[in-house]
Amino acid sequence: MATRRPFFCGNWKLNGSIAESLALATNVRNGVATLRAADVVVAPSFTALHAVAKRLEGGSSGPVAVAAQNCHFEDKGAFTGEVSASQLADVGCKYVILGHSERRQLFGELDAAVNLKARAALRAGLAPIICVGETLAERDAGETLGRITAQLDAAIADIAEADLARCLVAYEPVWAIGTGRTASPAQAQEVHAHIRASVARKFAGVAASLRILYGGSMKPDNVRALMAEVDVDGGLVGGASLQAESFVRMIKEGS
Ligand code: PEP
Repeated sequence: MATRRPFFCGNWKLNGSIAESLALATNVRNGVATLRAADVVVAPSFTALHAVAKRLEGGSSGPVAVAAQNCHFEDKGAFTGEVSASQLADVGCKYVILGHSERRQLFGELDAAVNLKARAALRAGLAPIICVGETLAERDAGETLGRITAQLDAAIADIAEADLARCLVAYEPVWAIGTGRTASPAQAQEVHAHIRASVARKFAGVAASLRILYGGSMKPDNVRALMAEVDVDGGLVGGASLQAESFVRMIKEGS
């Protein structure tokens, strides 16, 4: 059985000046400096990416990598206001969060766009963190697993096995994001196992090592129970990543 290294990404969303982002990133880096058991990533706003990536690069106190929260699917051209994956790589990003439910719900992002963005990210050398998740209405209607399959299949369409090996998947039930309501460990495990089995049907070689993150009101006091589930490999964390102390405590509890 593959051992999967825990992975925690703090999604800072639309928060933070450059100075605030640098302070938070520095405190996270210092907080996890002696931790060798997990991969730690922070996802500041576009405006702070370069400064934070510079602050975190190299250094002896343990690397914390940088993710963007979105990218465009074309590499260049007349796309006013967009940022390409190669531009993100240029400023020092290693990862990009794609298909977050806020992008899907508030900005009309469709499954097909998530797929184009994932392929653009891979071309640029970034590792996509692909988000999937059901709404409360879909869960109540018994449609959770079907919805997840549809989102996942669309997101990874035409991605080769070697490229899929560079991706992460985040299961983020929409009803748990920013609500204080967390999926129970059993609910998370059911969906994570389903994601792994879906990937295994296509790419058996990748499924066992694919890291599947949970996201949705993950906190220091619930991370341990979630991480105890066999298919939960880490977290995509919103609110609790905005304070270095709680993010670092969570990573330590969960690793
Ligand atoms: C998120 O937005 O990815 C998220 C999981 O947010 P929160 O932890 O605040 O629920």
